[in-house]
Amino acid sequence: MESVMILLFFALGLLFGSFFNVVGLRVPKKMPFANDRSRCPKCNHQLAWYDNIPLLSFLLQQGRCRYCRESISYIYPAIEFLTGIFFALGYSLIGLQLELITALLLVSLLMIILVSDLAYMIIPNKVLLFFLPFFLIMRLIVPLDPWWSGLAGAFAGIAIIMLVILISKGGMGAGDMKLFGVLGIVLGLQGTFLSFFLSCIIGAIIGLVLIGFRIIDRKQPVPFGPYIVVASLITYFFGEGLMDWYFTILS
Ligand SMILES: [Zn+2]
Repeated sequence: MESVMILLFFALGLLFGSFFNVVGLRVPKKMPFANDRSRCPKCNHQLAWYDNIPLLSFLLQQGRCRYCRESISYIYPAIEFLTGIFFALGYSLIGLQLELITALLLVSLLMIILVSDLAYMIIPNKVLLFFLPFFLIMRLIVPLDPWWSGLAGAFAGIAIIMLVILISKGGMGAGDMKLFGVLGIVLGLQGTFLSFFLSCIIGAIIGLVLIGFRIIDRKQPVPFGPYIVVASLITYFFGEGLMDWYFTILS
């Protein structure tokens, strides 16, 4: 039964993930995403339902458009797969409790941000504003301990990034700051600090690898959002264990 439920959440994640691709690509361009069938961005051919099966269509068509053979970005299947994995992980770690709603909302927000930031280096306000009231309501229903931790996390997140923006002049943007403000509500004060430190560490490591392999230039701007996304997922799902482990090493 348990494994059936995990598979079910994985499949649900695949479906939602393919919707998040559409939202993440269209919202920053102010394109409607509701009453519009999807088209190939290259040849504009309308896609049939069997071209749009999450993950499967990409694999069966070997990453190419069926009509013009243009290669399809790996971002689409990656977002579908990641959403599936994290929906399933959320269920298996939390179970059918109210907090699971918060977990699924968090994964949803982060996946949409990941698409927009990778595609355009934009973290859309509209997306943040859409999720904000849901997180506030969920933190009233399932409060953190202490109850004010979410608000403190939001303020701390905004303050830290504001400081980074003032000091670094261009490392992070206002979008990252607002994103941390929203994430703080979910992650709480400790979680916000942990997520910030993890995103810096992950950013530094990946940045060095990308420069080392000459994939990017030293001066090329890199979106910071993806690091925040990874760091926040680690913090939300494994933060407590990670901190216990860290303090065990220190003591
Ligand atoms: Zn095409």
